[in-house]
Amino acid sequence: MVSSSIGSGDARPSPAANGSAAGATGQLTFALNGEARSDRQQWFRDGLVAEMIRRGHVQLPTPTDDVRLILNFTDYDAPRPFRRKAQGTFVTSILQTNDQPADIFRAFYPVLIHALSNLGIIMVVRGDSVDAHFMTMEQGHYVVSWDPSRSEADFFAAIYSRLAPLATSQLVINNDYVPDLPEELWEGDEITRQITWAGEQLGKLNLLPAPWPIQDLLSERDLKHVMRLFGIGGLSYGNLSARRDEHTFWMSASGVDKSKLYEVGRDILLVKDYVPERNAMILSVSPKVQPRRVSVDAIEHFMIYREHPDVGAIVHIHAWMDDINSTEINYPCGTRELAVAVSDLVRDSPDPSRAVVGLKNHGLTITGRSLPDIFERIDGRILAQVPMS
Ligand SMILES: [Zn+2]
Repeated sequence: MVSSSIGSGDARPSPAANGSAAGATGQLTFALNGEARSDRQQWFRDGLVAEMIRRGHVQLPTPTDDVRLILNFTDYDAPRPFRRKAQGTFVTSILQTNDQPADIFRAFYPVLIHALSNLGIIMVVRGDSVDAHFMTMEQGHYVVSWDPSRSEADFFAAIYSRLAPLATSQLVINNDYVPDLPEELWEGDEITRQITWAGEQLGKLNLLPAPWPIQDLLSERDLKHVMRLFGIGGLSYGNLSARRDEHTFWMSASGVDKSKLYEVGRDILLVKDYVPERNAMILSVSPKVQPRRVSVDAIEHFMIYREHPDVGAIVHIHAWMDDINSTEINYPCGTRELAVAVSDLVRDSPDPSRAVVGLKNHGLTITGRSLPDIFERIDGRILAQVPMS
């Protein structure tokens, strides 16, 4: 197959992206970056490192290009990023503050972005007690607490159990562009017009949080770094897709306003295949348009469409519904593990072509026969607040 990579340099080789350093056995190399800033941070660092080694993970003396996990110790007030060399490196920044902010999300999410990290663990220290606040890229927030009446071993085991599955998950976010989109599709078709309509509906239903203004928070250099390594075109939340034929589907691009999906190639892309060896989605594009990246959840939608011929459309939003089954681990967006966990729940639904699946600490994936079918079914049932645990 002839493929070319255009746009934001997506086909860059990523030596660790095939999971060689972690593998299915959970073998995980890790290294520390930065110094502990306080006795309490030192305590956290020693406890977590001891737990990682107890679990059989391998500590490297210094970060290597393909290290799997970085524990980046830095200042809450001036977080220093660790600039990873490979997509497969998972950066967790560990910071400390002694004042719990009134609005935790508004305070902690920018810290995660400034630290260029996949995950933030912000320790709020109150006297002898510690609340470890986890903050994820998907806007997930949950707390693991410790006080002197509790076992330290149990605390670090709990921290480890929330961290390790995320750090060992495998991103599938490379985009290979093939300029073979038939000319009659350059302006889209009936299905892309339905996607435009559906995006407008999401806007009207107030289901599209404003994209996080990372361009205001980050320097140009850091912004490029984030886009390349996270495979995103910007930070926005939610996506939608609809089947075109047996093998292909149209999907919204990454980082665009989903209420304004107008241009094929820029806002809506045709996904035609997946190459596991390269962790890449194959996109059929017009030779006339500089395409954007497809949403990082394309791998999840791909798996669902291939398995269930009756599924005609899929919508993902950061919201919730009552009486649904949910994934048990909040794997990051764009990982094979999240895609498999969601696909498993879709398969187990009474009707996989009309399933509503919860993504823990994140949102919903909803399948339907068509986009209008999805909007009819969710009407009046959406809850704005995603439960966090
Ligand atoms: Zn999401």
